[in-house]
Amino acid sequence: MNTASPPSEPPLPEPLLPEPLAEPLDVLVIAPHPDDAELGMGGAMLKMLAEGLRVGILDLTTGEPTPHGSLAVRERETAAASQVLGITWRFNAGLTNRMLVADLPARQRVASIIRLTRPRMLFAPYWEDAHPDHVAATALVEAARFWAKLSKTELAGQPNLAGNPHHPERLYYYYCIHLRLAVRPDVILDISEHWEDKLRAICCYESQFITGRPTTSPTLVDRFRDDAAYWGRLINRRYGEPLATREPLALHSLAHLI
Ligand SMILES: [Zn+2]
Repeated sequence: MNTASPPSEPPLPEPLLPEPLAEPLDVLVIAPHPDDAELGMGGAMLKMLAEGLRVGILDLTTGEPTPHGSLAVRERETAAASQVLGITWRFNAGLTNRMLVADLPARQRVASIIRLTRPRMLFAPYWEDAHPDHVAATALVEAARFWAKLSKTELAGQPNLAGNPHHPERLYYYYCIHLRLAVRPDVILDISEHWEDKLRAICCYESQFITGRPTTSPTLVDRFRDDAAYWGRLINRRYGEPLATREPLALHSLAHLI
């Protein structure tokens, strides 16, 4: 069953831009739906936050409707997950779930949000996926990253972008895919010490991962743990999280390689 939200639901988020941040973010994770950032790189976010980095999440859509969710429920779940993560900043871009397209208005909105938050690193969904919103999100982030650095946007015929030009130096990709792909990531991060908190953040989305899901093993939560253990096994650690990059990785030193 897949029902639309009842009329008593609160309205979709206003398509407003966030206030410019006085202190820029170090990292902005851009997600098609609330829960993708947690699933794909909850461990990486917890790790970066523990290391003192300022980490934000930009959810592009509300993710609703879904079979067991609603706008109000998903909003509550998102707030709870944000609290578990201890995230620095989170915003919903108000684009339309299931109809996400990397068009010019969406690019303008996301580029403006990048300029207002000024992250050094961006994270986007991996480029190959069955979910059209995820594929659109990847294209949208790549285009918006480029647009965010444009100057002279006040000229006629140019996009009207908020904030000052800014170019995130790095763009990486997390895996939150709806295909059973045997992916070959560029990096596997050891998230062993953050796994339980990542799982707690994921489980905040009860309407997505628990309600109406199989209750006998393997449950969806069992699957998440199996995946994390698989990535951990490949690097001889308990739990891991895969990441990809199109550009070569730049390292200060080889000292932190496992
Ligand atoms: Zn998603």
